[in-house]
Amino acid sequence: MGEEKPLLSVVIPCYNEEATLDVLYQRLTEAAQSWGLPYEVIVVDDGSVDGTWAKLIRIHERDSRWRAIRFSRNFGHQTAISAGMVEAKGDAVVILDADLQDPPEVISEFLARWREGYHVVYGVRRRRKEGLLKRVAYYVFYRFLRAVAATPIPVDTGDFCLMDRKVVDILNRMPERNRFVRGLRAWTGFSQIGVEYERQARAAGQPQYTFRKLVQLAIDGIFSFSIWPLRLATRLGLLVSTVAFFGVVFTLLQRIYADWFDKYLGLRPVPGFATTVIAILFLGGVQLICLGIIGEYIGRIYEEVKGRPPWIIAERLDRPSAKANTSASPGLI
Ligand code: UDP
Ligand code: MG
Repeated sequence: MGEEKPLLSVVIPCYNEEATLDVLYQRLTEAAQSWGLPYEVIVVDDGSVDGTWAKLIRIHERDSRWRAIRFSRNFGHQTAISAGMVEAKGDAVVILDADLQDPPEVISEFLARWREGYHVVYGVRRRRKEGLLKRVAYYVFYRFLRAVAATPIPVDTGDFCLMDRKVVDILNRMPERNRFVRGLRAWTGFSQIGVEYERQARAAGQPQYTFRKLVQLAIDGIFSFSIWPLRLATRLGLLVSTVAFFGVVFTLLQRIYADWFDKYLGLRPVPGFATTVIAILFLGGVQLICLGIIGEYIGRIYEEVKGRPPWIIAERLDRPSAKANTSASPGLI
């Protein structure tokens, strides 16, 4: 960290957050007074269709510590975070949601941990102020992910975190298109620690994650950190074959010793229609599931090999040093 004070970057992905930006600016600026560090804020406008960009221009004019980039369209939350991390110049980078569900006041605790020497400090949600269904879904998802993921991913943590420059550089160099940032972050290793906080309700506006996007995020998390589903296909196959084997033996025996089966077990030879239909439907279902699982992976391979840029930047608000930090970007500028 040397002679000079280190710089802190705060990356904020934004999608149609016009309603929260003013409160966010206030809360963050107030919280920053306790940091004792110079800081910059990088807002990534993920193709908003409301007045988000206009608001960002005003904020940038008032306070040049706030910079912003605008995507050419909506690329998604995880991509916005990745782009912000490439733009960030700080010795530590904080990821923060725009809707104030992650309270900016917690950042000072993150900083304290970072100064103790931790490379990654992530927020652990103590309690969620969200609907029951969403809470149950999150609870199940994080535990399932922990059970199947090849690298342990801490439960109940989101993207709200502080990362050391070392970790940020590693993540920036990753060519992956399909980014599940909290998983990749855990994957890098180093010394990581959680800080508990209370997840607030949204400050204003609507959640920008639709149910479909959330399910997609969950699927990304599972398929990009685990080959367990592929193994599931094999196991299901084995299980079904074993059951089928006993079924065959039973049917043969019943055929050969029909009298015995009839007399002692009360089983008469079945006409066979029901059994056949059930077997066909069941096997058909299992086969489709397995095909789907393989398809998920092949789809991912296809996405990666196309090698398209993960995001496209249409505009930037960057007054003091406009040329800095553009070459390392995996995205298009
Ligand atoms: N977001 C984004 N792109 C999207 C969806 C969301 O950049 O396509 C941003 C959004 O502006 C917010 C953060 O990601 O800052 C989290 O979104 P949201 O609050 O809707 O998600 P939730 O808190 O419900 O998980
Ligand atoms: Mg939110």
